[in-house]
Amino acid sequence: MAQDLLDKGAIIQRDKTTYAIAPHVPGGIITDFNMLRRIADVAEKYGAQAVKLTSAERFALVGLRPEDLDEVWKELGLSPGAAIGLCVRSVKICPGTTFCRLAVQDAVGVGLKLDGKYHGKILPYKFKMGVSGCPNNCSESSIKDLGLVGMQSGWRVLAGGFVSGLKPRLADVIATGLNDEQAMDLIDRVVGWFAQAGKSKRLGKVIDEIGYEKFMDELGLKPLS
Ligand code: SF4
Repeated sequence: MAQDLLDKGAIIQRDKTTYAIAPHVPGGIITDFNMLRRIADVAEKYGAQAVKLTSAERFALVGLRPEDLDEVWKELGLSPGAAIGLCVRSVKICPGTTFCRLAVQDAVGVGLKLDGKYHGKILPYKFKMGVSGCPNNCSESSIKDLGLVGMQSGWRVLAGGFVSGLKPRLADVIATGLNDEQAMDLIDRVVGWFAQAGKSKRLGKVIDEIGYEKFMDELGLKPLS
């Protein structure tokens, strides 16, 4: 695909003619309701075939013509989500203590900080994060490269989950009982470790390759299982 289309976050569609774009909406949380009106107006004006909700908590405008993309982005007033490429693609965030009556940890607060710090960060392979405010795990943290699950005692940190391909992998628990700052610090270390490891594969496959114990040792952690 031409670099300028990549820069515009354009994803070629099945008809090989039109493109989808998916603006970045951190945490999928919208408090400016005019954004929703703009998305609807732009989709209608430029003849989108559909607006599809994605698993990364985004609105994808599907079936746009390439010659309209500059105007589409200008009128949306948004920037592209990292839907493709070797980078941190998404940080999926549940409603946490901000909205959910069951939450025990601040998934929105921590998740938005992670999104601000890591969304789009270039890494050796695609990378996803999930933040869930309680063990119900609504952000599917167990199938993310890095996941947080809120417990009464603090954050449980999971690493190495993914579902793409024919052999999905549940993440390993790498730490428990962390406060917000400690969880953010550990995530920073894991992301840094993955970046320097330089392996063109999912984190879970790298962990399987070197072994959980060695992975934990390299992060300065004691194995938990
Ligand atoms: S994971 Fe827990 S806090 Fe988050 S939405 Fe689900 S039930 Fe609510």
